[in-house]
Amino acid sequence: MRPEQGIRFLRQFQELLTEGGFVATYKFALMQALADLSVEHEAARDGSLRLHVEQLAEKFVEYYWNQARPFHEQVLRQNTSGQAEVLRRIEEYRPRVDGRLGQLRADQTAWSTLVRRIATIIIKMPLWKLQTVGNRKNEFLYREAEYRDRSIRLLPGVPDAFRAFHPMLTSMIRGGWISQIHRISANQEVLGAEAELEGFLFGTDRRSLERFTAVLRDHQAGKCFYCGKRVSGAGDLDHFIPWSRYPLDLGHNFVHAHKGCNNAKRDYLAAVSHLERWRVQNFDEGHKLAHRLNEAELDHDLERSLVIAKWAYRQGQASGARLWLRNGQFEDCGYRWQAALQVPGGLSVAAKERLPPYK
Ligand SMILES: [Zn+2]
Repeated sequence: MRPEQGIRFLRQFQELLTEGGFVATYKFALMQALADLSVEHEAARDGSLRLHVEQLAEKFVEYYWNQARPFHEQVLRQNTSGQAEVLRRIEEYRPRVDGRLGQLRADQTAWSTLVRRIATIIIKMPLWKLQTVGNRKNEFLYREAEYRDRSIRLLPGVPDAFRAFHPMLTSMIRGGWISQIHRISANQEVLGAEAELEGFLFGTDRRSLERFTAVLRDHQAGKCFYCGKRVSGAGDLDHFIPWSRYPLDLGHNFVHAHKGCNNAKRDYLAAVSHLERWRVQNFDEGHKLAHRLNEAELDHDLERSLVIAKWAYRQGQASGARLWLRNGQFEDCGYRWQAALQVPGGLSVAAKERLPPYK
């Protein structure tokens, strides 16, 4: 991507974010979905990417799932008048699975019914409105004329721009999303400090964090992922690919570590030796971790976690990032991460190996 193309993309994106008249928060969810799917899927040879409306809908369910639980005893409104339809749909499903997204996903029929319903809302509401600012349509992301078989096509260069600017775009989107929720008058009395709201909207549910911690601690036999020494006490659950680089709460992106090791790592990518250990922990043990996550009914997707790790390190290589080895010690992010992420048998084998659903 040439620098001037990057700047042009950012300008246009910013315009959509700040202008556009939306009554619901769907605009933000749709933008985030386009950005995330651009990272998670390989673009075509010409740099374009076709996305099914159902793929967008799955993302909507993921984003709104935790947001549909009560915040200080009240589900936040995501629409200026009444509740947004997507939230109402999700609220119907949450109690059936005790709020566990992983469990809903394992129930194929329920999952696909919900996804189809959300997809219908996306087609009706934000999909064709997103790129209209004022009365003017600026189809720089995808074109209505290219819509077919329930799919849109991100124009050549767009997936590339989403990948390059993902962390920045994510914080722009979230900032806009939070402001809109603040502006909805029905929310104003229940809302506390903005920081608290951000954690609620975009963080992981505390109950599932505790369950993730238990699974990872078991899986690592009580040892710290980074230094290999015993963890006494609770320890920390660390996002292996840092949350600030890509907010991913899938099981394989978590490791259990000392509080001290986790604090020292902060938002750095881990050194190549850690990366290799991460790949072994996730891939080379007969998918044991995936089985444990299944048993605990926790959300995970090995293929997606690997794709995102590759993307994060490729970004690190391109920007000359420093990789964290241990407290105070770093190494350069060269190309050696590529070998560390080589999966024996290739990704396709891992992807094809569908685990049996729990229950
Ligand atoms: Zn440690």
